[in-house]
Amino acid sequence: MSNHFRDKKRYYALSDFLKQKFNCRVFKVSVNAGFTCPNRDGTKGTGGCIYCSQSSLISQGVAEGAGIKEQIERGIEYAKKRHGAERFLAYFQINSNTYAEKDVLKRLYTEAIEHPLIAGVAVSTRPDCIDKGIIAVLSELSEKKFLWLELGLQSAKDSTLNLINRCHTVDVFTSAVELARDGCIPVCAHIILGLPGETRDDMLYTARFLANTDIWGIKLHNLHVHSGTKLEEMYRQGKVRLLDIEEYASIVVDFLEMISPETVIHRLCTDTSQRFLIAPSWSANKFMVIDRIHRIMEERDTQQGAKYFCNRV
Ligand code: SF4
Repeated sequence: MSNHFRDKKRYYALSDFLKQKFNCRVFKVSVNAGFTCPNRDGTKGTGGCIYCSQSSLISQGVAEGAGIKEQIERGIEYAKKRHGAERFLAYFQINSNTYAEKDVLKRLYTEAIEHPLIAGVAVSTRPDCIDKGIIAVLSELSEKKFLWLELGLQSAKDSTLNLINRCHTVDVFTSAVELARDGCIPVCAHIILGLPGETRDDMLYTARFLANTDIWGIKLHNLHVHSGTKLEEMYRQGKVRLLDIEEYASIVVDFLEMISPETVIHRLCTDTSQRFLIAPSWSANKFMVIDRIHRIMEERDTQQGAKYFCNRV
């Protein structure tokens, strides 16, 4: 059994990884660097992914209009008081955070990296906003501080990506992961469980795909409907069936069993803003969802990676 499970934890949480790496409590501070998204501005698509709500994206607790340094300082002040954190990660979270010229990216990331209380940087983006030049910028900066890349995949099925208007394919994700690996940049994949038209088998197909892909972390989200999205329209027309909490928790456990025990789990469910949530109501209580997932793992007496070796091809 791997070291991560010595203390009876059944999956390898990001908080455990960060404690091992930095030997103290580390907290993420969100940064809005003003990036846009090629799936909204017409470069790749218009309207965005069907579940994406621009209003909720820009209200995630960052100081609007402030520079990177100021946002980081305000975020640190808040996290110190509220969570007792000692060191911090700058999280470039909103929209596609590699969607700019390389010199602009370098300047923005450097501003975050150079802050003395910042231990590392996480950059969230679309896989089609990655190329060799961008990876070279990230690689250079990763020599100064810990840095990882978060790439939206959502599903390993092209038919689903098409349905949710992602405007990229699974192959594009695979190529981005390969470029990141060449630059020694760890990749965390974002996945949504419960996407329209997907069965349990489809979601576990995505787990199997990730078990065979060179990734470092996974962030799991449950599909939720936010106001003002295309998904809301589909939901109100009865075209979308949402998972109930039992189904979701059970699929998450199946998913965790299939992936490597070494993969870092960044999140088990969506952190929803109630202000925009239409459904499902259980999505508003992430602690209840996490508790249900933990309890199923206990009942099954299972752990992350329990079926991993059956899934390697
Ligand atoms: S890629 Fe991200 S920011 Fe762009 S539309 Fe999709 S979810 Fe929204």
